[in-house]
Amino acid sequence: MMKRNEQEQRNPQALRDETIVIHGDDSITDEKGVNPAIYYSATFQAHSASEFSEIAGTPRHPRYYTRYGNPVHERVQKIVADLEGTETALVTGSGMGAIATTILSLVAAGDHVIAQKNHYMSTTKIMDELLPKFGVDVTFVDQSDTSAFEKAIRPNTKLIMVETPANPTLVLTDLAAVCDLARQHGIIVVADNTFASPINQRPHDFGVDVVVHSATKYMGGHHDLTAGVICTNEELAERIWNTHISIGSVLSPMDGWLLLRGLRTLPMRIERINANALALAEFLENQPQVERVYYPGLPSHPQHELAKRQMKGFGAVIAFSIKGGYAETQRFVSALKLPPNAVSLGGVESLVVHTAAMWEGTMNEEQMQLAGIPANFVRFSVGIEHIEDLKEDVRQALQKI
Ligand SMILES: *Cc1c(COP(=O)(O)O)cnc(C)c1O
Repeated sequence: MMKRNEQEQRNPQALRDETIVIHGDDSITDEKGVNPAIYYSATFQAHSASEFSEIAGTPRHPRYYTRYGNPVHERVQKIVADLEGTETALVTGSGMGAIATTILSLVAAGDHVIAQKNHYMSTTKIMDELLPKFGVDVTFVDQSDTSAFEKAIRPNTKLIMVETPANPTLVLTDLAAVCDLARQHGIIVVADNTFASPINQRPHDFGVDVVVHSATKYMGGHHDLTAGVICTNEELAERIWNTHISIGSVLSPMDGWLLLRGLRTLPMRIERINANALALAEFLENQPQVERVYYPGLPSHPQHELAKRQMKGFGAVIAFSIKGGYAETQRFVSALKLPPNAVSLGGVESLVVHTAAMWEGTMNEEQMQLAGIPANFVRFSVGIEHIEDLKEDVRQALQKI
């Protein structure tokens, strides 16, 4: 056993992911429990008036008021920052809390933002509906075309938002190329790394300034909590935290504790998920009832070479099209016995959605076609079940269309 002070001297960057998730937060403990207590307290007491003024004046103090920080959240932040290779991290109450807080912290009226045509839907809404209300212009570009980012740059461009891989066809953004462009023009790059997870992709290694996550997905990993994380350097984190305490997307102490528990097994789960998803994607490609499979790990993915360059594994989400239309696709999804028919991704259980059905309430058929969401698309988030059981379930469901 190493003594505590020896542990503190270890450089966390030198540890591997599997060890970071178990010991990355060791230096934070001041308790006797091997597992941390849940600090279910909105506020924390100081021992004297002078200590109170010191705590109140310290940004991001973990023992002042839970909207400002919380001891369990501090552990989560330490681990996730080490996984992403950033100086620090900040947890929020949801992935959208992380994304909205980051964007609103970094732009002002008169600024210009470059975003992708494909983003998580609520991110698109920020770009499309919220930012224009505050006098921020947004240009939407095809994420697979680096020259489109270059052409969109204006003298007042302050931020480039990327997300890779992205729905619905798991298109990638070339992180190194976009970051090179941004650096030449002094533009901040924010990347939504939710679909990859820090185990499969570290955007900061390619030059991304702020990495955001919906920790609701892989990091939590059990479809039981909602959380977000913002990973960046100390300076930007303090700027973003200043907005965060006003916006108030606060993670509850309980969900922070569950998130910490989820993180402990993240590399193991991702390892299994990567293997399962690749095997299922290969299996699907060989089924006569399947028209096309979209998965960055398959050589048939148009950006497979880029995927191999910037990703270590390819994640849980497989998109594929069924031979047939809306009705056949509905029949296939309904015939599956194992995965619940539910949104979200990256948890221990597989989940499936008929993509068109997900958007039906908000788009008509023409809008869906424009957005590249055909009627016969399925999104499958692969879990950690036994691969042969997943294949068998998909095989029997395909026979029922
Ligand atoms: C789920 C998701 C979000 C939003 O996260 P919440 O935790 O649901 O707020 C943002 N981006 C991506 C890519 C997501 O999958």
